[in-house]
Amino acid sequence: HALQIALDGPAGAGKSTVAKIVAEKLKLFYVDTGAMYRAIAYKVLKINAPIDDETRVSQIAKETEIVLDHSDKRIVWCDGEEVTEEIRSPDVSRAVSVVASYPGVRKRLLELQRLEANRGGVVMDGRDIGTYVLPEADFKFFLTATPEERAKRRWLELAKIGKEVPLQEVTQDMVERDRLDTEREVSPLKPAEDAIILDTTGIGIDELVTKILTLVQG
Ligand code: C5P
Repeated sequence: HALQIALDGPAGAGKSTVAKIVAEKLKLFYVDTGAMYRAIAYKVLKINAPIDDETRVSQIAKETEIVLDHSDKRIVWCDGEEVTEEIRSPDVSRAVSVVASYPGVRKRLLELQRLEANRGGVVMDGRDIGTYVLPEADFKFFLTATPEERAKRRWLELAKIGKEVPLQEVTQDMVERDRLDTEREVSPLKPAEDAIILDTTGIGIDELVTKILTLVQG
């Protein structure tokens, strides 16, 4: 298979920022699997479907068309509607881990994710890429950082796109999301046995990117 780089870790560990740059430098596709789960959560909220109804939500996941754009704009479409910004809202962030805990939803998105990897070399960012989606990936990285630092990064990211949410709220939501992601039964958040664990606390993006590129390019 073409080059596969898996980047996993909890929210705010720096995955997406690093993944975008590494993909650009190595001319690979960047695949944000979190955006796919977010698109499903967005749709469930939009049509007012009961989020606790696993059968219904799984059915919705099957019927929803999700398209990720591979240009540097990273546009996300859900049933033909552009939802790039909408899927970053606090409401979607709060709903997404519930939706992601349903095996039916994961099964459907796994198919999409593997299709993306068949298009060519990828940097794929998520929670279960190294353990489950691309177990044969050439490189597996698991990014971590202290909860304080991760919450601060998320908060800054939200501020950058004009979403002013109190830091305490961001922290609470993040801790809850990590709990759900770690405790779910199907492909929970955890490092693959052969993953390289990188603690990104206090480390700048440039340094992190250089480290990863050095490891990948040998
Ligand atoms: O990466 P991001 O924070 O956008 O992911 C949103 C949520 O999607 C995660 O908290 C998790 O519940 C779910 N997710 C997942 N598996 C992935 C990627 C994301 O369960 N591979």
